[in-house]
Amino acid sequence: MKNTNFLTQQYIQNKKFNISHNYLSSQFNDYKKIFKKIEKLIKFNDYTLGFEVEKFEKKFAKLINAKHCIGVGSGTDAIYLALKVLDLKNGDEVITTPYTFYATINAIVQADCKPNFVDAGQDFNINPDLIEKSITKKTKAILVVHWSGRICDMKKINQIAKKYKLFVIEDACHAALSFKKNKFAGNFGDIGCFSLHPLKNLNVWGDGGMIVTNNNKINKKLKLIRNHGLVDRNNIKFFGVNSRLDTLQAIVANHLLPKLKNITFSRIKNANYLDDNLKHIKQIYIPKREKSSREVFHLYCIQVKNRDKLARFLISKGIDAKKHYPIPMHLQKPSKQMFGYKKGDFPMAEKLSKDTLSLPVHEYVTKKQLDFIIKQIKLFYFK
Ligand SMILES: *Cc1c(COP(=O)(O)O)cnc(C)c1O
Repeated sequence: MKNTNFLTQQYIQNKKFNISHNYLSSQFNDYKKIFKKIEKLIKFNDYTLGFEVEKFEKKFAKLINAKHCIGVGSGTDAIYLALKVLDLKNGDEVITTPYTFYATINAIVQADCKPNFVDAGQDFNINPDLIEKSITKKTKAILVVHWSGRICDMKKINQIAKKYKLFVIEDACHAALSFKKNKFAGNFGDIGCFSLHPLKNLNVWGDGGMIVTNNNKINKKLKLIRNHGLVDRNNIKFFGVNSRLDTLQAIVANHLLPKLKNITFSRIKNANYLDDNLKHIKQIYIPKREKSSREVFHLYCIQVKNRDKLARFLISKGIDAKKHYPIPMHLQKPSKQMFGYKKGDFPMAEKLSKDTLSLPVHEYVTKKQLDFIIKQIKLFYFK
């Protein structure tokens, strides 16, 4: 049967690669402990929301110093519900970056809003200096994406938002445990959105996501919206949706959450090692790492000369070199058709899409493997 879930190609075991982006089998080799917790759940029949979801929500909120966390169906739903709870609708414009994963934009369109793209900077994140002139009468929110866990320039962005009375939403799906000056991703704006997809730093056995907020009213309303708008068995307060964090996935998330710090530290260590060994190569551009921030390296992205050729070369050596993403969102077919975007609109996003290469940095990549990657890259440029 043809596999139509194109994203799974990235995490189903692929023997072709000695150094793979995939580490899920190793990561969950203690799955029997999770099975034990599922057995317990079966005795209690606590299948939707319930104890495990609440436990996860409390623990995640505490971990990133947020007041509230609301478990939802996916990261995409988190963004969609964020727009919905803020009452955006009818073509309200949301300023965001074209250099992101499709979900950011799909959620905006699903909420009946319009993406208003602002070009990225060379550090992969939205360029704050271009935001102000893109604001129109219909603009209601700025939706930032902390690319690969690098925090956007939230000081500038929040100043602009305040001046024009715009909401700020963080797509923090790459940024669990990222921080800047002791403030964790998810706490910079009105609402922060996270994903538990198998490919994220904190991941489960399917789909899941969460929203964090420090606003009591938003928290209360979101808890209702994700669960049909139900206030009791027979009454809904408003029309909601069914987007609860699945209870089985909450069990997996609870199992993994205590390990997230170490997962993060390993990624940072590996990324620093690559940085130190690649930064002197003049064909490679690595954005400056900020001292006051923690970047969690959901991806390790660098900008390189002859990207496609280098990627093919590394793949031939068994290294899973990836492109995140070769087509910026404004050049995706529906963006062109529905919103009239065209080539040349966002030169930096287009350049990043051509030059960016991702290398594996997860916690199961060994120093020996990193040395092999570095050696092959040097061979490619200097042979
Ligand atoms: C993964 C991701 C999402 C959405 O996540 P899902 O849980 O797969 O719906 C949103 N934005 C970005 C930037 C992502 O990488």
